Amino acid sequence: MRIVDLSRDLYHRTPSYPGQPPIIHGIWKTHEESFVDSGNVHGNMVMFFSMPDHGGTHIDAPRHFGMSGTPIDQYPLENCIVPGICIDLRHIPPKAEITPADLDAAVKKAGVPIPKKGTVLLCTGHHARTFPGPSYSTDNSGVNVAATEWLAQRGIVHFGIDSMRPGPEGKVNSLVHKACLDLGITHIESLCNLEALIGQGEFRFIGLPLKWREGTGSPIRAVAVFDL
Ligand SMILES: [Zn+2]
Repeated sequence: MRIVDLSRDLYHRTPSYPGQPPIIHGIWKTHEESFVDSGNVHGNMVMFFSMPDHGGTHIDAPRHFGMSGTPIDQYPLENCIVPGICIDLRHIPPKAEITPADLDAAVKKAGVPIPKKGTVLLCTGHHARTFPGPSYSTDNSGVNVAATEWLAQRGIVHFGIDSMRPGPEGKVNSLVHKACLDLGITHIESLCNLEALIGQGEFRFIGLPLKWREGTGSPIRAVAVFDL
């Protein structure tokens, strides 16, 4: 079994989505301090974190798109371990819309069909080009509504992208989120290392969310698994 890690490192003040809370990771108690606890004969260090449920590599729960959508604690786990393919969209310029024709050409070039009830990971090259600079938060290419519909019509449960949002920043991204709710799919954001999957054929995608009650999303440890 070969595993490719597709997850961003989480660390203190790693970029979070504009307007959302920062990602905080700090020391709550050091090994030395823990000796003040009665009965401790060996020091144990504890850290703490605070972050939005859309921090780092994460899946959007349908609840994020509207109150009729499923919250993350009720999102089907069957959708979190699914067959997947990765397509190369690195030629699409920053901030541009990815269209159905772009997707169709990239899937043909990948040479593997889109798996039913699976996922399609969109390698735009955005993370590799911009992270962790300021343009990481703004300059991504992304699907438009027609491309979102094109993906849903192929029977996927979600798609993933190596940027903070599935569509280009602004109105298109907002409409893509609404389309996901209407179409019964969702998406995974802030993936990285998708370049390692290009030309590799089908894999098993795993990205299990935390069980936040009524949550609108969750960080995931996203991986691609190749069975040997
Ligand atoms: Zn989203």
